[in-house]
Amino acid sequence: MIDQQDHFLYLPLLPEVAVGTLEPRRIAVPLADSLRGADIRLGSVDQIDIDERSIAWVDPDGGRGQVQYDRLVLAAGSTHKLLPIPGVAEYAHGFRSLPEAIYLRDHLVRQVELASASMDPAEQRARLTFVTVGAGYTGTEVAAQGATLTSLLAESRPTLRNIPVRWLLLDLAPRVLPELDQALSRTATRVLRQRGVEIHTEQSLTEAMPGKVRLSTGEEVAAHTLIWCVGVRPDPLVAELGLPTDKGRLIVGPDLGVPGHPEIIACGDAAAVPDHTRGGAPTAMTAQHATRQGRLAARNIAASFGYGRSSTYRHHDLGFVVELGGADAAANPLGVPLSGFPAAIITRSYHLLSMPGNRLRVATDWVLDATVGRQATQFGIVRGEHVPLEATRPAPPNENADPVTNPAQPSKRSIRRCDSSSHETPRKPDSSGPVEGVPRLRFLRGRRAVQAGRP
Ligand SMILES: Cc1cc2nc3c(=O)[nH]c(=O)nc-3n(C[C@H](O)[C@H](O)[C@H](O)COP(=O)(O)OP(=O)(O)OC[C@H]3O[C@@H](n4cnc5c(N)ncnc54)[C@H](O)[C@@H]3O)c2cc1C
Repeated sequence: MIDQQDHFLYLPLLPEVAVGTLEPRRIAVPLADSLRGADIRLGSVDQIDIDERSIAWVDPDGGRGQVQYDRLVLAAGSTHKLLPIPGVAEYAHGFRSLPEAIYLRDHLVRQVELASASMDPAEQRARLTFVTVGAGYTGTEVAAQGATLTSLLAESRPTLRNIPVRWLLLDLAPRVLPELDQALSRTATRVLRQRGVEIHTEQSLTEAMPGKVRLSTGEEVAAHTLIWCVGVRPDPLVAELGLPTDKGRLIVGPDLGVPGHPEIIACGDAAAVPDHTRGGAPTAMTAQHATRQGRLAARNIAASFGYGRSSTYRHHDLGFVVELGGADAAANPLGVPLSGFPAAIITRSYHLLSMPGNRLRVATDWVLDATVGRQATQFGIVRGEHVPLEATRPAPPNENADPVTNPAQPSKRSIRRCDSSSHETPRKPDSSGPVEGVPRLRFLRGRRAVQAGRP
């Protein structure tokens, strides 16, 4: 296994890291612990030669590795979707990786601290205004849980008694959680409103500037926080292969094999796997599909060597869970709509069962949060410039078109990419970041070791 991370990241709980309910390493399960016997290489794949059946990568220290393959499983996942809105690449922060969540947690706490120290009410209001773009499950969870955290922090500071904490949640769709069931959307809307989140549907940004954003209504909002949760697109590694894609996802058959290349199997967010429950449209980019497709990929590879029989992907959605923080959640397990405490129990139980490890640690953090509260401290270890949006590789213009075999793909069958660290663009750093940054964090405890490298 070649991965630029040494851990499996349980993304559904990333918002809980950003608001301090969970410590970062809780959702990072070391690959070496869960994949015993596997040969794990830390590196970013930058070359795949389909004809030669070889794959090459660069490790974090710049060393190179290369291997020939008999079968190749492409499961590179997805990355941020960037829209061409002026200022977004410079001033918005994405929310897809551990460093981004650690950065956001520090940033939120820091805004409250700076607002508290300021003598200027206009600056205090701007520091306590948080704009989230995208009301899918990520943006909804971040806004719902972030509003609770920042309100709690502001209440504990006498200088902020008369300054409102504002969270704005923007989406072009007519409702929050537009891709999920109406019942989930209604529950989430109610909880968001109870927490004072201003929901701006059918609206977006037209510009992001230092210390303010302009909404599509023309209104300017002074804010030092812009969180970008507009969705994801398949990892560019896939598009660069030169094989047929559908909205950037590698086209595969129902057995996950690439047509014409039975030795290549793709799954998860990176693959357009036909969903038989939706007339063959690609499966949604969810963990629910990705984990099941991963198991099928393994089974079909074994079958291709004569062990067992290959089969095709078939899965009916079992429902969704949306963690809203505290005793609130929205869930529809097996289609039964739930809200409040029952939904919270189902949601957390589901996450614990789905995680490949660290369950006791996660459960302990939840118990601690419910009993002794959170530690609201910021270290400023991950600075804004270390978690840039992928400004150098914006979504291709035809990515949002109807499903097509992307004609803009390069015809070459071998790709070469640069180390992601060289992609950093100059951006206006969070002016409040007081501590010298380090490019990489290492978390070491007992026998477990995972690193939260730069994305
Ligand atoms: C904040 C957030 C919350 C979410 N919540 C939910 C939820 O509640 N429920 C749900 O069903 N889904 C949720 N999802 C979606 C879900 O996480 C994804 O659908 C799922 O992770 C896809 O799995 P994957 O294996 O395809 O890709 P990923 O989990 O993204 O894994 C891809 C792996 O490939 C590695 N990689 C990428 N490029 C390279 C390269 N060039 N070289 C080496 N390694 C590389 C990455 O480091 C990563 O480890 C959420 C996503 C996000 C971002």
